[in-house]
Amino acid sequence: MLVCTDDDFAFAGFSSKFGGVSKGKFAGLNLATHVGDELGNVEQNREILRQKIGAKKLIFMEQIHSDVVSEISNLDAKIPPCDALITGLKGVAICVMVADCSPILVLDRASPKVAVIHAGRAGVISKILSKTIRKMGSNPANLEVIIGPNIKGNCYEIGDLDLGAFNAFKNGAKFDMDAALKNELESLGVASYKFSQICTHCDERFYSYRRDAITGRFCGFAYLRD
Ligand SMILES: [Zn+2]
Repeated sequence: MLVCTDDDFAFAGFSSKFGGVSKGKFAGLNLATHVGDELGNVEQNREILRQKIGAKKLIFMEQIHSDVVSEISNLDAKIPPCDALITGLKGVAICVMVADCSPILVLDRASPKVAVIHAGRAGVISKILSKTIRKMGSNPANLEVIIGPNIKGNCYEIGDLDLGAFNAFKNGAKFDMDAALKNELESLGVASYKFSQICTHCDERFYSYRRDAITGRFCGFAYLRD
């Protein structure tokens, strides 16, 4: 597990394959129910993670590669399919599942809220990060943004796919998600951000869809302390 924030305000970071009960292609701490793994094992893995990070509850999204941002202020409310989740609830860890896409965590200490974002190529191009920050109502100057392990520009082949304005972040047949996200963070005026240097495609401690096709998902998580 990579712990990025552990203080009185919040606990936030990223899981890895380590510590789980899944077997075979999903071996380790697979957190996704939609990839073909045994559901009992996924449930157990989620409980292992919940206890390890000390959250009261974990909330996962039904992710659809969209730019839909949801906010939860009530645990009984149903969450629509979405790719970003915001909460001001304490002790409730919101989670984003990934295996190459960018897991993004956003912390606002000024008006206490956290957000998690699923940004693959589609999410980056639709600027789901900007949309999430707008919906949070946060001043970008107050935010801390953490981009976790994802597929790096040297490994992310997309061929001759035309990305419009985002062709600027292509290097030949490869797309550099971090460069595009950094540009977005700079233009938003986010004062504090950091990128993990880990490439999921190269580092076998993390699940990678591009490397393994049938595989699990790790997650980015964040919760506010009581
Ligand atoms: Zn790589």
